[in-house]
Parts: sequence; C-alpha cells; structure tokens
Amino acid sequence: MTTRRPEPTIKEMTSRAIEILAKGKKGFILMVEGSQIDWANHANDAEESARQTLLFDQAVEVALEFAVKDQRTLVIVTADHETGGMAINGGSVNGEDLKIAWTSKGHTGATVPLYGYGPGAQRLSGFHENIDIPRTFAALLGVKPFPKEKSLMPAR
Ligand SMILES: [Zn+2]
Repeated sequence: MTTRRPEPTIKEMTSRAIEILAKGKKGFILMVEGSQIDWANHANDAEESARQTLLFDQAVEVALEFAVKDQRTLVIVTADHETGGMAINGGSVNGEDLKIAWTSKGHTGATVPLYGYGPGAQRLSGFHENIDIPRTFAALLGVKPFPKEKSLMPAR
C-alpha cells in the first residue's frame, strides 16, 4: 500500500477492524503493524519515518479510544525490532535544522519500547530486548509453558 489517498489510512482500517471484531462474543486479538515505519528507516528517510509514525499514532489513538470505552481491552504498542539506528545529532527544539544520522540500512539490535493501556498494562513499560516481547505476551495470555527456543547453533 502507498499510505496515500485514495487508499484507506491505517487509522481507518484499524477502526473498521475493531468495529467488526467487537461484534464477536469471545473477545479478540487484533495486530496492527505500522510496517512502513520500517520501510522508511531501511531507506534512511527520516521525513517519511516521521510521517509513517504519525499515521501509526492515529491507529493507536483509535485502539485507545475503544479500550477506554470498553474497559476490558489491553492495548499494547511495541516493535519487533529497530531499523536504521537513527540518531538526532543536533537541531532546534522546534524540529528545524535537525541533523539526522543513521548507523545502518538494516534492522539493529537496539531495545524496543513496550507500552500498554488496560488490564495487565502494569507489566508493560520501558525498553526491552525484542526477544522478550513474545514471552511477555505469552505470560499475559496465560500461555504455559512458553515454547522452548530453538538453538541457533548447528546440532553436533
Ligand atoms: Zn525491516
């Protein structure tokens, strides 16, 4: 998708998905990915990264509005990895003349943020190794035991 009109925005798609899924009686899990933040960072395009992040933020807003009204919904915002290793090395507070630097055109090993709102959200805060995110989700969902990790080392 282009994330430009006439295509629906990620906010609109999130809103429609929640509208449909909320009709069910068993509850639901909805995963919304702002994947084009990743694409922009692969291209080391800071302006597009900011645009995509703002579009994703609108989808988060829709989810939070539902959760506030519903009071039984946990909204989690996180990332599966960081991309590009972007740093701001100067500029003014109002965002003019920013000096953006990148360390990579690929995924990095930087920690990722984990935010939550709703039941269980007290377990969701701070920055984490991305491999800890699925363990946290499994614990929240009561999935036990969490699947064993496969060794990256070749078998002998
Ligand atoms: Zn990527």
